[in-house]
Amino acid sequence: MFKKNILLIGLFLFIAIAGVAQKRGKHPKNIILMVGDGMGAAQIYAGLTGNFGKLDLEQCTTVGFHKNTATDNYVTDSAAGATAFACGQKTYNGAIGVDANGKPIPTILEMAEQHGLATGLVATCSITHATPASFISHQSSRSLDENIALDFLNTDVDVFIGGGRKFFTQRKDGLNLNDSLKARGYHIANSMAEVQQVTSGKLAAFLADEHQARFSDGRGDELVKSTEAAIQLLNTNKKGMFLMIEGSQIDWGGHNNNMQYIVDEMIDFDHAIGKVIEFARNDGNTLVIITADHETGGLSLVAGNISTGAVEGKFTTSNHTGVMIPVFAYGPGAEQFSGIYQNSDIFHKMFSAFRFKKK
Ligand code: MG
Ligand code: ZN
Repeated sequence: MFKKNILLIGLFLFIAIAGVAQKRGKHPKNIILMVGDGMGAAQIYAGLTGNFGKLDLEQCTTVGFHKNTATDNYVTDSAAGATAFACGQKTYNGAIGVDANGKPIPTILEMAEQHGLATGLVATCSITHATPASFISHQSSRSLDENIALDFLNTDVDVFIGGGRKFFTQRKDGLNLNDSLKARGYHIANSMAEVQQVTSGKLAAFLADEHQARFSDGRGDELVKSTEAAIQLLNTNKKGMFLMIEGSQIDWGGHNNNMQYIVDEMIDFDHAIGKVIEFARNDGNTLVIITADHETGGLSLVAGNISTGAVEGKFTTSNHTGVMIPVFAYGPGAEQFSGIYQNSDIFHKMFSAFRFKKK
């Protein structure tokens, strides 16, 4: 009798542990990739200082680094950087979803669509700009905004929220792509209030003709609200989601050598990070990856004060730099992102986290 009870208890424990192991498996249902454009370690620490010594980013459990040279340049730009994340191949600066020979290569967003997942893009610049474009478009140059806008119609992306209205509606070819989007069942939103009225279905949201304003210049908490809206819409798909969210203007603060611009944009991006991690924690089945394409400005921090939030920086360039970039991860599969690897490996890690099969 005693032996039988031990056996039963053992069996019960085995089932309980196996259940937990399955729930905490390495294969998330959802992946949310967050790109702070131009966000190196100094930009992060400037934001942390400006936010009085803390960031939501610190909740990430895994940290790694990526090496980000482009095929034609030691220092990458956002197009080659985002194409490496999206497609798993390094390419030349300016390339949007094409390899070093200009050949289109499938993106993780397109693969997610093919597998029946919901997909989305959120940015605080034109949705046709290099970072979001590289996940959905295949063009030889990042400057071909109107071609990139047309490529949105070659996909079934469920939600996109950003700027860039004019590339859809005031085009040299006279087409109004918003009519085509409507015909395909998209809700079109032209303000945050309109975004928030959409509670189901597909959404194409244009919050600016070209780029949204700076955070400090009237954009306010649009990134946080866009993030919440995108997650809510995509989360209705039982199979899961792939969502890319970009804090686009940290880079522009770097190009402008403007410390306050960087701090404001960094803290705003961190608020979006907080919402995403909160969702991931409650959901339990969402892998969050937070990184940058490259550093911008060659920023160093030479003085600061955590209690006042003041921070003083020195810049060495108004362009991008070649330093390794930190990668932060949270959720099932996060541990795959520790170590030092190529920017293009982020694609391969997402690909295997989703359990997609090579064709
Ligand atoms: Mg960008
Ligand atoms: Zn830049």
